[in-house]
Amino acid sequence: MSRRRQIYEGKAKILYEGPEPGTIIQYFKDDATAFNALKKGTIQGKGVINNRISEYVFTRLNHIGVPNHFIRRLNMREQLVRQVEIIPIEVVVRNVAAGSISKRLGIPEGEMLPHTLIEYYYKDDALGDPMIAEEHIACFGWATNEEMQDISSMAIRVNDFMCGMFAAINIRLVDFKLEFGRIWDGDYSRVILADEISPDGCRLWDMTTGEKLDKDRFRRDLGGEEEAYQEVARRLGLLQDESGPTEVFDLSKHRKLRGK
Ligand code: 5GP
Repeated sequence: MSRRRQIYEGKAKILYEGPEPGTIIQYFKDDATAFNALKKGTIQGKGVINNRISEYVFTRLNHIGVPNHFIRRLNMREQLVRQVEIIPIEVVVRNVAAGSISKRLGIPEGEMLPHTLIEYYYKDDALGDPMIAEEHIACFGWATNEEMQDISSMAIRVNDFMCGMFAAINIRLVDFKLEFGRIWDGDYSRVILADEISPDGCRLWDMTTGEKLDKDRFRRDLGGEEEAYQEVARRLGLLQDESGPTEVFDLSKHRKLRGK
């Protein structure tokens, strides 16, 4: 078999040229980074789980009419997606204060926000992804006003859908990050959801215990990150397991099951 051409290697994914023009293969790695790659490590099996979770979420978003790049999962670690022109903006949606907003504005972590907030960050590792306003986006031409309207309304739809999806499995969706891209049809373009949706880019808290089930376990040295990612997949019904979907997260049980 001929070697595939690698297009890009990021912190958690590798992109390869797809089998047909306009397609890309996303390969999900186990590598984990935090604080703009100052902290590096691996979360065993993360790539496999994120591939499945992202497939699950994007497929359902497609069903409710949120256009996205997902085509199909190819194998344990790879999925076929549409090639897009990535818009260099990270869109963060927040329901509950945590992370950088708590630090920046002194709002205690866990405080419910009066309403859902959308924030924008400029995707630039060298600058540490600085927070930007819509005025910056328009001023520097990163996206048009029309595109920003589409992006913000899609972000709200994704949030509404995911809040319900996670609430059904006893998980609070605190915040998450989305990325969007343009697809072209002649001279016309439209914006679709791209990248991935997984515990790497979401804050997910168990509704009963408040236990963190996301990458903050790695960022904050809490341990149990593999178990937390597995727990999210299990509750979504993506892993075979005899226990019920809304059982409370029990780290010690997970470790015993995995012989640790
Ligand atoms: P914060 O701004 O509080 O650090 O992050 C807000 C939300 O966006 C969190 O759920 C976090 O996981 C996600 N997020 C922000 N920036 C990034 C990023 O560069 N990579 C990933 N994977 N997630 C991010």
